[in-house]
Parts: sequence; C-alpha cells; structure tokens
Amino acid sequence: MATRADIAEAFRSGWTVETEFDALQYRSDQFACWFCDKQNLRWVRQMRHPRLDGFVYAGRCCAEKYAAGYHGEEADRMMRNADNRFKRFADPRYWKPAASSGNLTRMYKAADGTRYRCTILQKFSYKVIAWTAPKNATPRQVVDTEWTSSLEKALRETFAELEGKVTA
Ligand SMILES: [Zn+2]
Repeated sequence: MATRADIAEAFRSGWTVETEFDALQYRSDQFACWFCDKQNLRWVRQMRHPRLDGFVYAGRCCAEKYAAGYHGEEADRMMRNADNRFKRFADPRYWKPAASSGNLTRMYKAADGTRYRCTILQKFSYKVIAWTAPKNATPRQVVDTEWTSSLEKALRETFAELEGKVTA
C-alpha cells in the first residue's frame, strides 16, 4: 500500500496553499501534517491538489516544499500578530464588572477600527456577546456564542468574529 510519502511524491507538483490558520482557533481539533505526519501543528496550511479530492493540512516546511513559490513567512507573521491581538483582547485587566449586572465587560477596537462592547456572561459556564458601539447610532449585536465550559473558547470565537475570521 502506498504511504502518504509515496502519494506526495507522485503528486510532487501542483499543490497550492488555500488558507493558513492558527490551530488554537479550533481548540477541539488537532492538526497533523499530511506530508510528514508531524503532530500538533500550530500554524496550519490547508492545501489542495487539482488531482486529489478535498484538502490536506500541512506545516510550513512541507507547504513550502510542495507548493511551488509558496513562502510561509508572511502568513506566520500575520498569524502571530493576530495571536498577540487575541491575547490583548482576552487580557483580564481590560475586563471590568459592569455596575448593573456584575458581568465582565470591555470595549474593543477591531483592526478595521470598529468599536465593540463585549460582555462575558457567566453561570455554570460562559458565553460572550458583543455589540457594535457606534457613536450616534443604535448598537447592533454581532456575536452571541454558545454556552461553553471554556471561557477561552468563547473569547476566541468572539475575537475571530470581530476580526473577520481568519488570521492571515
Ligand atoms: Zn510536514
């Protein structure tokens, strides 16, 4: 039976990188490199080949090896920047209890300049909601996560929504 390495050799050229993403955006999943089987990738490339159905995941080295002309440095930089922005978004120092409800709340300015009011609701689990915070217009709710036992998951989902999903 052909191994993945054999298949990769047979399809040595023609790969393209479709998208790059931070595995921590998808905390319930683990990503391994399809080409070399490296486990627990953090900065994942989603790749396609015109003669294969579906897509595969790869790490940066294999993406650069198999996708002609692909350089992952810029994508890595963008993803690291996004991760740093997420850490600032989630930083507990910015979240203050609202006077009325006691829910933790903060204002957040996304990369595109839009301002949001974000609130963490807490019962036995967490959920996050976010509203636009325009100066002279009616706020509009843009995020309403599921209840989850992981506050980080809810915050990452919210952040991805406010920052326009993908990090690269
Ligand atoms: Zn690899």
